[in-house]
Amino acid sequence: GRADWLSRALGRAGVMPRAEAERAIQEGRVEVGGRVEREPFAPVPPGVEVRVDGQVRGLDAPLHVLMFHKPAGVVVAGTDPEAVGTVFERLRAVLPAELRGFEWYAVGRLDRDTTGLLLFTNEERVVRHGTAPETHLPKRYVAEVAGRPSEEALARLRQGLVLDDGPTLPAQARLLAPDRVELVLTEGRHHQVKRMLAAVGHPVRTLHREAVGSVVLDVPVGSWRMLEGREVAEGL
Ligand code: URA
Repeated sequence: GRADWLSRALGRAGVMPRAEAERAIQEGRVEVGGRVEREPFAPVPPGVEVRVDGQVRGLDAPLHVLMFHKPAGVVVAGTDPEAVGTVFERLRAVLPAELRGFEWYAVGRLDRDTTGLLLFTNEERVVRHGTAPETHLPKRYVAEVAGRPSEEALARLRQGLVLDDGPTLPAQARLLAPDRVELVLTEGRHHQVKRMLAAVGHPVRTLHREAVGSVVLDVPVGSWRMLEGREVAEGL
């Protein structure tokens, strides 16, 4: 493979998260090819021996993707595992020790008050694939809204409507209850569900994400599970 930079390679391989790796490197605890390396951005040639605190650490990175049921009130921002009030902190608190060394990247974002399915991975290319507009990965949401959306409002959501950053793609929309809308989007613009529902006169009261691609949330709030290789290959 390509040379990667040292702190990132350690995070991806599960030795320790990037922020921790940066500190360890600066403290002189990391050797690359038999020499202490104090530069977190130093390239790591494939196959070179890396030691942390004197111990050889393999940098082969297995691909992991996990689902997490995001509670309300936590932000998806920053990746410093020690930052308070973030979804990263919540995830690390429930992961077993052997998974805490990975740098976990969120695949996309949910607003602070939004609950539901958030995928995490140690591979940045999964993040790029999952969030690139051209992937058109369907994301299924359930929103409780103000008022009672009419058939006409649903038709506008389906056809696409014009937001201040341009027209939306056609979407699936149906009522689950008089004030509950299921919406499936194949794009993911900032606050898109809230802006679409507000645009048809039904501001969102609560928002929950149930599915991304064919991966459906099936763990309780605050919990996680690892996806099988097949779920990743076929679902995303
Ligand atoms: N759309 C929103 O408005 N908020 C989210 O959290 C996700 C999609």
